[in-house]
Amino acid sequence: MFRKVLIANRGEAALRILRACHDLEIRTVAIHSTADADAMHVRLADESVCIGPADVQSSYLNVPAIITAAHVSGVDALHPGYGFLSENADFAQIVALHDITFIGPKAEHISVMGDKVEARRRMRALGVPVVPGAEGALSSLEELRALAGEIGFPLIVKAAAGGGGRGMKVVESEGELEGAWQLARAEALAGFGDDTVYAERYLATPRHVEFQILADAHGNVMQLGERDCSVQRRHQKMVEEAPSPVIDADARRRVGDTIVAAVRELGYLGLGTVEMLYDDGEFYFIEMNTRLQVEHPVTEMVTGIDLVCEQLRVAAGEPVSFKPDAFTVTGHAIECRITAEDPETLTPQPGRAEVYHAPSGPGVRVDSAMFGGSEVSPHYDSLIAKLIVHGRDRDEALRRLRRALREYAIDGLANTIPLHQRILEHPDFAAGEYDVHWLERELMGRENP
Ligand code: ADP
Repeated sequence: MFRKVLIANRGEAALRILRACHDLEIRTVAIHSTADADAMHVRLADESVCIGPADVQSSYLNVPAIITAAHVSGVDALHPGYGFLSENADFAQIVALHDITFIGPKAEHISVMGDKVEARRRMRALGVPVVPGAEGALSSLEELRALAGEIGFPLIVKAAAGGGGRGMKVVESEGELEGAWQLARAEALAGFGDDTVYAERYLATPRHVEFQILADAHGNVMQLGERDCSVQRRHQKMVEEAPSPVIDADARRRVGDTIVAAVRELGYLGLGTVEMLYDDGEFYFIEMNTRLQVEHPVTEMVTGIDLVCEQLRVAAGEPVSFKPDAFTVTGHAIECRITAEDPETLTPQPGRAEVYHAPSGPGVRVDSAMFGGSEVSPHYDSLIAKLIVHGRDRDEALRRLRRALREYAIDGLANTIPLHQRILEHPDFAAGEYDVHWLERELMGRENP
């Protein structure tokens, strides 16, 4: 096992990894910007290194500074967390070239799955159904027109390098094709430095159902069940639950077996998430994330498996610490992402929390780096906390979530707790009947974006 790990992240993501390291008695090194000198991840790490000023390009994305920090602190491994450099294949390679283990999959897999066109092609070749659409990248407006002739409207134009719900344009009719083509490519270039786009059918009421993958170097390749992440705004997840209220054991086994076979064939190693859209009883692959996922705690709550500890074990060449065919899913877990945003408009509202008191009690877990007097900085994302509840069944989880949201005290910082309460009180959510457009349609008064 590793002796010392550098955590190339901040906020609750850094804390989550730090906790797994400490549970495995591994020493931790935090990196931080000047704005984060007093942050929780810095306080709790065994050592810390300041790597630059507040803006992310100069700090959390500053590869030479991070590699230097890893060297001076003498770590044998580096965990990228999620976001920042976690899906940057070049970074993974640079880390490896410095004889430091990158805690993640092989650079080759980060690279293949980071290109959504290539990911679709590979998965389809491996027998995983994909959303009907382009065979490859689209090289001209004429190709997009021809594709529209085949798959019809609505369709969605997506950036091959896209992520975080950005770089997507829905096209309702022929007349919108040219505008969407121009806009999608311009946004892709501005956002990801690559204007490659592709297109696929736009499903009207799909659910986002994703499968947690874990593979070690000892032949164990498994899926640890699904997460339903259909409560979204602007194609970004807000609430996640496990198991999905609409997937039965049969469907889970069927698609799970297909995914595991594909991932095994790929030779994939470590944690990963295969994201699917589920519509009318059918699953369609949309992308694979080659890292720990923000919403991983719901899987941890229902399986009792510490995914980050397993990820560390696998990266160190050890087998997983449980019997792959003997794990069970127990009860139900739900996670709310609480952000410093206006609960009506969802615009970011950075600021200081004068008072911060998180809920606790049976079945409640809070993953957060906040404390009274701490700040959500305009330089970083607006996540305040992930509130995760577990119950013996979905009803108990819902009651505990209601209780926990009521207990939460955050003063001085606009936040999304009121919106989460509205979601929770809605009869559709209580019944588990929602799709990826539901939140904007029912609670925010918006048509499909
Ligand atoms: P990103 O990489 O930016 O997260 P994804 O491809 O994973 O993009 O899609 C994010 C979300 O966008 C999905 O969860 C879903 O809500 C919506 N979406 C993506 N593709 C489609 C589609 N073909 N039809 C309908 N909604 C889609």
